[in-house]
Amino acid sequence: MNHPSIRIAVLHFSHETVTFLKNETTLDDFIYAGSPAQGEALLGSYPKSYMGGFVKMAREFDGVELIGIESPLWPKTGTGSGWVTEEAFETFVGRMIAGIKAEAAFDGVYLCLHGAMAVRGVPRPEAELARRVREVVGSKAFIAATFDLHGNEDEAFLEHADMAFAVKYFPHYDEYLQGERAARTLVRAIRGDYKPTHVTVRIPVISPTVLQWTGTPPWMDLVQRALVWEAREPDTYVNVFFGFPFADVPDVGMTVQVLTNGNPELAKQVGHDLARAIWRQREALLNSTRIHTIANGVALAKQAVSSGHTPVVLADHSDRSGSATWLLREIIVQDLSNTLIATIADADATARLKARGAKEGR
Ligand SMILES: [Zn+2]
Repeated sequence: MNHPSIRIAVLHFSHETVTFLKNETTLDDFIYAGSPAQGEALLGSYPKSYMGGFVKMAREFDGVELIGIESPLWPKTGTGSGWVTEEAFETFVGRMIAGIKAEAAFDGVYLCLHGAMAVRGVPRPEAELARRVREVVGSKAFIAATFDLHGNEDEAFLEHADMAFAVKYFPHYDEYLQGERAARTLVRAIRGDYKPTHVTVRIPVISPTVLQWTGTPPWMDLVQRALVWEAREPDTYVNVFFGFPFADVPDVGMTVQVLTNGNPELAKQVGHDLARAIWRQREALLNSTRIHTIANGVALAKQAVSSGHTPVVLADHSDRSGSATWLLREIIVQDLSNTLIATIADADATARLKARGAKEGR
């Protein structure tokens, strides 16, 4: 009989928590048709994202068996909810650990994460998950993870896990690619062909997400600098976490992680190069986009309309645009005519419409 030679556990636990929102993210929010998921259902979730890339690449290697451990998918609330309850976190992590134990032993673990999950009573939830996974898989297994660049992570995560791969672009065009890299590097590490050596550098910069578009400098420069290092030094991976500012957590802000193949000096050199580049450009990074108050923005739009400079886009970048109606209120107050509101979300209204069988476009 031909036994697979490499067994990898696959887990998913992701949220981008706005801790300033009043509605908590509860156990119930993670439970719906299709979630939690395990086995092929988990492996087939989010085929164009991290999970899809990971599964596709891992399966290109001979003798690799992937085991989807029961995991919650994104909560029903999407990104529109506050603190994840300790009950939700403990319930799912408990089930994940039980799932790993039931299917043991593993050579590797893939954690499909976001990085900006905030849990009441658990200061660093992703690191805590990695710590508990490490406890059950032992020190010989390799743990690899993928992250959104909006993750808030400090040194804690890579104290328990071996590898992390974060997207470089905002918008996040490279989720699938980072999933592929995680798979390839994890399999290589298990086979003894990659010795994960890493450094984590924190940079004391917090910025609103509206500034972080990587389509122009100075944010694009950071992407480019990381890519150049990856091009120059084979087997080097550079993660630049922009951080997620709408979370009141101890590790909020920018972090650089560098992964090399058994070369701690190189990891340090690249990590500090990126950290210095960020620090040098901090003024530019924090002023990449001019932000107006809502009242001033609407007044400027009125001015533009009256002088014929149309169309005008009023981007309400509360990072949860569509959930806020402050801009709409100001538009009414200032009587700005011919305004099209692209997104308004009202959970109650949506629920009532759904209950009455309403569908998009009808
Ligand atoms: Zn993001």
